[in-house]
Amino acid sequence: MTAAIQSNERQTDHSDFLTACRRIVGDGNVLTGEQSTASYTVDWTGKYRGKALAVIRPSTTRDVAQVVKLCAAQDIAIVPQSGNTGICGGGVPSDGQTSVILSLSRMNHIRSIDTGARTATVDAGVILETLQNAVQEHDLIFPLMFGARGSAMIGGNLSTNAGGSNVVRYGNTRDLCLGIEAVLADGSIVNGLTGLRKDNTGYDLKNLLIGAEGTLGIITGAVLKLYPQPKVRATAFLSAASLSAALEILNIVQDRLGNTVEAFEYVPQPVVEIILKHVPQVRQPLADAAEVGILLEVASSRMDDAQEASDGGKALQEGLMIVLADLMETGLVLDAMFATSDSQRAALWKLRESVLESINAHGPAYHLDVALPLSRVADFVRIMDEKAAELGFRPLTIGHLGDGNLHYAISAADPASWDSLPLAQMTEFAFDLLGELNGSFSAEHGIGQSKAALLKARKEPAQVAMMRSIKQALDPKNILNPGKMLI
Ligand SMILES: Cc1cc2nc3c(=O)[nH]c(=O)nc-3n(C[C@H](O)[C@H](O)[C@H](O)COP(=O)(O)OP(=O)(O)OC[C@H]3O[C@@H](n4cnc5c(N)ncnc54)[C@H](O)[C@@H]3O)c2cc1C
Repeated sequence: MTAAIQSNERQTDHSDFLTACRRIVGDGNVLTGEQSTASYTVDWTGKYRGKALAVIRPSTTRDVAQVVKLCAAQDIAIVPQSGNTGICGGGVPSDGQTSVILSLSRMNHIRSIDTGARTATVDAGVILETLQNAVQEHDLIFPLMFGARGSAMIGGNLSTNAGGSNVVRYGNTRDLCLGIEAVLADGSIVNGLTGLRKDNTGYDLKNLLIGAEGTLGIITGAVLKLYPQPKVRATAFLSAASLSAALEILNIVQDRLGNTVEAFEYVPQPVVEIILKHVPQVRQPLADAAEVGILLEVASSRMDDAQEASDGGKALQEGLMIVLADLMETGLVLDAMFATSDSQRAALWKLRESVLESINAHGPAYHLDVALPLSRVADFVRIMDEKAAELGFRPLTIGHLGDGNLHYAISAADPASWDSLPLAQMTEFAFDLLGELNGSFSAEHGIGQSKAALLKARKEPAQVAMMRSIKQALDPKNILNPGKMLI
């Protein structure tokens, strides 16, 4: 009897809460029931599922603030969600606390584009690709580039400090942001949308919220940096003599072509084979297998680089061909192909961006997203590959090589044998090795649920203590994305 009364009381509490939310965001924007919330409560990998009291979809910063105040008053946890393409379980509720998912998807307005200052001020729910298309009309680019750009949103990109293939030139999302507007755990709004490029008036609050995965505040808007549209690009796929040779190649191309490298992506043969097997439209880029395959792209907005060259192409394209021909003579490059049309370029990028789905189609795998000092990348791959072979695993490694960021998937040669392989031994080996080589166990995907225990166990204790102090100060009731990052 008592239990029934308590349960009724709980229900009444929540229905009052939901009614209040509906008053703020409108009836149709408070979704309840399994059917309407299903796509929000499971993450992109399908591995993380959570329960949500409701999915709430505000359309203004003021509405977000009001919803947060309601949640704070009733100790209801808030899980911010943007495009839900995160791959570490950060955007869905974890067990143990009554939660709502706060979807930013209706906050999808580009507030302004300032072509003089080369900035865009946007709502957090603007889809990355939508912003990119909009600024293109002004001959500008927002350079963040990765496979999920058609669904991922600016708020999610900032909250994960997303990387991708252009970091070698433009930096992470953190480097592309000039200011943030956010709602804190008590419902207060902080407005940092000044667009200033210099502002030394105290702690860097913007950078505290970037990469915080929704644990310190809900990002509702941002001022982002824009860059001139390249006038010319050159894209090639090459076979490097070794991983160390690849890093030499990167530096030589940067030196001779004036820091024009926009992408330097490691796509070795074992991964190409998996892609060929699972994505029918993709072709092998070089006639012979490239053990160290590199997708290289250079681009420039300089008039000189875009001028017609003696061979009928553009100066930058001819420049890259000359550099690569020289590198072939030195033996650093074994073979290379140039994309001579947009469709060839698109085919090379299709190859690169099919990696994750192909590895998933191959079978079960444990995905490491690691960063290393550039000089230790080759050591890491060699030592890991030896250990993987010894324990019966098949590594499928790709990477944003120019940033020292490897996506090292530990898979089984025969997917059927996966359950019998010593995965814990392999991953512990990897994390120990990363520690020895001064590497990071999360380069760009974040912590979420999947690496929260790892962070607790492996990040320097003094840094974890500092993170806990910040969390305690900004979210004393632990209502912002609990169960993620800090556990
Ligand atoms: C095919 C594929 C390729 C990918 N490639 C890359 C890659 O190359 N580089 C890379 O870095 N990532 C990559 N990712 C991962 C993912 O796309 C990025 O992490 C992306 O930035 C997440 O954006 P999102 O809008 O989907 O965020 P979500 O998945 O919705 O959320 C991610 C995290 O941020 C929090 N969050 C979301 N919005 C807000 C907000 N407004 N305020 C506060 N917290 C918020 C969530 O609670 C969650 O913890 C890839 C994913 C896929 C599926």
